[in-house]
Amino acid sequence: MSLANGRPYLAIPGPSVMPDRVLQAMHRPAPNIYEGALPEMVDTIFPDLKAVARTRGEVAIYIANGHGAWEAALSNVLSRGDRVLVLSTGHFAKGWGAIAERFGAVVEVLDFGPRSGVDASAVEERLRADTGHAIRAVLCVQVDTASSVRNNVPAIRDAMDAAGHPALLLLDCIACLACDDLRMDDWGVDVVVTGSQKGLMTPPGLGFVFFNEKAAEARARADCVTSYWDWVPRTRADIFYQYFFGTAPTHHLFALREALDMLVREEGLDAALARHAVLARAVWAAFDAWDTPGGVSLNIADPASRSHAVTALRCTAPHGAQLRSWMEHEAGVTLGIGLGMAAPGTPEAAGFFRIGHMGHVNPHMVLGVLASLQAGMAALDVPHAPGGVDAATRVIAQAARPAGSVAAGTTPAGRVSVCCGD
Ligand SMILES: *Cc1c(COP(=O)(O)O)cnc(C)c1O
Repeated sequence: MSLANGRPYLAIPGPSVMPDRVLQAMHRPAPNIYEGALPEMVDTIFPDLKAVARTRGEVAIYIANGHGAWEAALSNVLSRGDRVLVLSTGHFAKGWGAIAERFGAVVEVLDFGPRSGVDASAVEERLRADTGHAIRAVLCVQVDTASSVRNNVPAIRDAMDAAGHPALLLLDCIACLACDDLRMDDWGVDVVVTGSQKGLMTPPGLGFVFFNEKAAEARARADCVTSYWDWVPRTRADIFYQYFFGTAPTHHLFALREALDMLVREEGLDAALARHAVLARAVWAAFDAWDTPGGVSLNIADPASRSHAVTALRCTAPHGAQLRSWMEHEAGVTLGIGLGMAAPGTPEAAGFFRIGHMGHVNPHMVLGVLASLQAGMAALDVPHAPGGVDAATRVIAQAARPAGSVAAGTTPAGRVSVCCGD
């Protein structure tokens, strides 16, 4: 017997849940790729993408996953022999740096470990020491999906400015675009890379690179750029065919249009960010309540450094792997594996797991995951204090009281205070 025979739920940190509307938008015959409905529709995608990244810069769309977008960004700004500074807070920035190395860059890693964000003062110190300005680019993730840390991007920008250093700031927002607030222009980010399959609720296969004027100037000098990754024709095409350097990813684009309708035109970006903040706080509240020696705990202790898109958990091996297995086979929920926290396949790796709460998620989904986890911990005798699900429901209830009602310990303003404030 398995209790899991109902609608399954993939709660890994990407690909995220795809709305039925997004899937249905793809269910159509192939369109003409030269003129008509498709090019007209794609014209409307660019401004909405820029609105989501809050930039007046450019955006190039690639048929690629996040790794492709990484390579696209680097190829447009780097030359062989350039020095690159990688700010590592888990797993993903190092992966990006490895791609830079294959381009012939000299890569240097500042490693801040998997349990806290980038220390901006260390970045300032390193850049001040680079008096000859050999470092051409700083690579950083906004959210590291392995550790679930969220970096303070404005602090990193301030550190670069304080050092008076001209390096480009390249930011990976693949995990968290439309989940954690991003203000590309206000924060002085030169290049942002992201993908379709996480906060943007679209199947994997589209990669996006946003860039500002400073990055466009760097492109003019870069000698790593190749025909396929060149962002110039992708942003200034004379004919539609050039936007994608060949046949457009037709059905992905229709899916993306539908997802952007939902996100930008219907819910609104600010409301979506506020929703993610509430859901993330519900997840944290549950784990804070359950926390007990020998049990499961949040990987990131400081709430200000936690992502609203994904939460990484640590526990005594093999509890993590057992919980994932129980959740899949008894509750119909697939949780994410631990990534980059211990060598894959080692006993230690079985002590980590992750929950994705990005994109098309709401309280019944998140509370369902948390309540199922509580049942799983009980079934498997994983030590936990009581009250996790109650704590999560209190966060949801407090954030969604009817307008005008005042709960003990809250104010009517409590409802708006969840908006993008933290
Ligand atoms: C998912 C993710 C990637 C990798 O994206 P792929 O589409 O799997 O290539 C890179 N960086 C971060 C922060 C991610 O969350």
